[in-house]
Amino acid sequence: MPLNFSFMENNTITAKMPVSDILEQMNSYEHEEVLFFNDKETGLKGIIAVHNTVLGPSLGGCRIWNYASEAEALYDVLRLSRGMTYKSAISGINLGGGKSVIINADKSSRTEKFWKKFGEYVDSLNGKYITAEDVGTSTNEIAYIMQKTKHVSGKPIDAGGSGDPSPFTAFGVYLGMKATAKMAYGSDSLDGKKILVQGIGHVGQFLIDHLAKENAEIIVTDINQQNLNAISQKHKVKVISPDDVYSYDMDIYAPCALGATLNSETIPLLKCHLVAGAANNQLQNETLHGMMLKDRNIIYAPDFLINAGGVINCYREVVGLSAEEAMKITEKIYDKTAEVLERAKTENSTPQQTAISIAKERIEQGKNK
Ligand code: NAD
Repeated sequence: MPLNFSFMENNTITAKMPVSDILEQMNSYEHEEVLFFNDKETGLKGIIAVHNTVLGPSLGGCRIWNYASEAEALYDVLRLSRGMTYKSAISGINLGGGKSVIINADKSSRTEKFWKKFGEYVDSLNGKYITAEDVGTSTNEIAYIMQKTKHVSGKPIDAGGSGDPSPFTAFGVYLGMKATAKMAYGSDSLDGKKILVQGIGHVGQFLIDHLAKENAEIIVTDINQQNLNAISQKHKVKVISPDDVYSYDMDIYAPCALGATLNSETIPLLKCHLVAGAANNQLQNETLHGMMLKDRNIIYAPDFLINAGGVINCYREVVGLSAEEAMKITEKIYDKTAEVLERAKTENSTPQQTAISIAKERIEQGKNK
């Protein structure tokens, strides 16, 4: 049900809005702080959610998206920021979880001024939230944002940053996929495996580079024809329609587009042994859909665990690590995935619930320090 609130100037929420609903949602997700922002001049409006800062400042990308409602945007930012908390916690890095969403800004409004204004809102949180790239943002936008705040990561390489985090994300997803394949098949070789990559964007294209080196049989789908053309020129891939994904006969499904593709409609159709991809929040409902996959003997590699390469790369900017050091942390995704899958099996739990438990255990330890 859509919430009855609207965006107000100066980050204030007025009595007209059912604030209790928002606080209730924050409470159920255990959020520390949520900032609504609106700038009439540039048309910039959105939400920054700080989920948890026990292990360090909250870090997470800025997503720009056409949401059907403000309630949908709030839901997205709350879920995504919580996922960032788990992601950093399970990866062993000292960051908390945060995220920002910018709502329904058409391309022509996304000017330099627009992004600088967003930088001001990030800055107003005094380092409690560090922004980065996500869907719809790249190092180009980061270059504007960083003019207004130092609380930015994923900065362009020529500005002393670590650049696009996507290759690191893709490498982690690849390692997580291999560890999951080991659990499913007894070997982590992807040679000859039919792997369907849904979404050939920043991460999907780099993931395919790794899969091609292993001689996997690669199937791709995207709604962007340019991306499909580019990947078809680079690698031997089979292109299928986005509508045919869920009933396609494959070994491995790699969601690398948007979240919630694992739901009550799609899971009964799936013909695969495992799911391992980059998209955030792949399970529409963590408990129900995690169980549905388990009941169908489809092994699910928790998204926030295997797509952590990007945040690890951003972390290196925050604390000043070398690319090699960040890569070493990313490499641990293989062993962590194996550990989660083993523990889930022993505990008769789902990999998602086990991964969340491990992340929460680390946060609890952090509280006691
Ligand atoms: P992107 O926007 O570059 O790529 C997404 C691709 O998915 C695009 O090519 C788009 O056309 C395609 N797509 C959208 N809807 C589709 C549909 N219905 N069917 C098929 N294809 C569709 O984004 P990205 O940076 O590659 O990230 C992909 C996913 O991974 C996102 O969910 C993102 O949040 C997540 N992620 C990204 C990173 C990173 O480092 N970029 C890190 C962690 C998680």
